[in-house]
Amino acid sequence: MIHRPVVIAGGGIGGLATALTLHQIGVPCLILESVREMRPLGVGINLQPNAVRELYELGITESELDQVGVPTKEWALVGLNGNDVYSEPRGRLAGYHWPQYAVHRGCLQMLMYEKVIERIGPQSVQLGARVTGYRDTSDAGVTVEVVHADGGRSDVPASLLIGADGIHSAVREQMHPGQPPIHWGGSMMWRGVTWARPIRTGASFVGLGTHKHRIVFYPISHSDPKTGLAMINWIAEVTWDNADKKQLNGWFRQVQIDSFVHHFANWTWDWLDVPALIRGAEFAFENAMIDRHPVPNWVDRAVALLGDAAHAMYPTGSNGASQAIVDARVLGAVMCESGATPEALAKYDARLCGPISKLILRNRGAGPFGLLNIVDERCGGKFDNIDHVIAPAERSAFMASYQAAAGFAMETLNEAAPTIQPGSRVADRWTEPGRQRAEG
Ligand SMILES: Cc1cc2nc3c(=O)[nH]c(=O)nc-3n(C[C@H](O)[C@H](O)[C@H](O)COP(=O)(O)OP(=O)(O)OC[C@H]3O[C@@H](n4cnc5c(N)ncnc54)[C@H](O)[C@@H]3O)c2cc1C
Repeated sequence: MIHRPVVIAGGGIGGLATALTLHQIGVPCLILESVREMRPLGVGINLQPNAVRELYELGITESELDQVGVPTKEWALVGLNGNDVYSEPRGRLAGYHWPQYAVHRGCLQMLMYEKVIERIGPQSVQLGARVTGYRDTSDAGVTVEVVHADGGRSDVPASLLIGADGIHSAVREQMHPGQPPIHWGGSMMWRGVTWARPIRTGASFVGLGTHKHRIVFYPISHSDPKTGLAMINWIAEVTWDNADKKQLNGWFRQVQIDSFVHHFANWTWDWLDVPALIRGAEFAFENAMIDRHPVPNWVDRAVALLGDAAHAMYPTGSNGASQAIVDARVLGAVMCESGATPEALAKYDARLCGPISKLILRNRGAGPFGLLNIVDERCGGKFDNIDHVIAPAERSAFMASYQAAAGFAMETLNEAAPTIQPGSRVADRWTEPGRQRAEG
């Protein structure tokens, strides 16, 4: 019997994690991706231990992740005077059973894409296929409307449609036609990658400055043994109080370094030269810090949203890509319980939409960088001994509360059963709508 596949709109980290998960549990799937060619685009992203755990469960190994990134050893906040505000070990060093990784987004995407092609076959990804909408079909499936790169149109029959088509999702647009426009709080980020010598532990994530004016940097490769240099991902950020929407010129566009480096002109200490770090990059991208206001549901019967399409959020918590991977695994878990059916999608919605929507709003409030706000409010960022500004217990409590909300609180994660029990498969009777009722 030929099953209609689950169609996935978008082959980003979320869409690819979904395809690998569905294949693992025996559900046929097809990715429709709008770009004509997969290329390793983007700069650095972070994978929290909860997401790394899921990648391991998908058979992506530590040595493969080491080809596209580096395990993070430390997360540190530093004040404008160059003094430490807070630092904590990360990943296995902190006691997690899984590492945290800082990776090159495009290289991770290519690694996952190659896995999909290798395991499911080249026919499982159609490039140059932009999903424009969907129609519910009377036989309980869904028809996916597609525009191809050559301008042609087609309808693709699917059992379910998973909209993993990013922050500008067409699937979400149809599901929530009245949603507010993109939300921008006035922060502009400039991103780039520079070959430089890593500092502190050699694999530290460092956030330096204030909530409204900061630089974040971390290595996304192991150091070259000959030169000692690693790819350092940096994000330079400024928040304007009276931001004008005219300053929003696209989402991720290449810009001249001279157009923004002056914001960091005097940011030099004996251990760090921010202007030199920024100027060392071959390319820089302007990337407004935008998100989407939460919607009340991610599911419309046989259609679900996943990843940024469901919950585009400010990157202050470093968890957008991690959550996209976790979404895919939760989707797989509910399909193991209820099949590739609308019932499974309803369970997925019930499990994730509420808590993750809260996280979107929490990240607007600065996420874990909120500690820098507190320091700023209490002493204008000037201090000799941070303990006199914010006690160690208060710092730790602040961080623990964020980690719990984001789903990577250590003990909870270490003790949690696998999201999908190894070897779980979706029974055949579930993978074709209509048969479920007849046989079930
Ligand atoms: C080119 C690019 C570069 C990025 N670089 C960074 C970065 O450097 N740092 C960072 O923190 N985050 C970056 N992001 C965002 C980050 O990847 C996501 O926040 C996170 O990984 C969640 O991924 P996602 O799969 O939900 O969405 P995305 O990564 O946005 O993937 C969505 C995919 O869907 C495709 N698509 C879009 N619309 C349609 C459609 N209508 N039909 C079919 N396919 C469609 C897109 O081409 C893309 O491949 C980038 C995203 C993209 C697309």
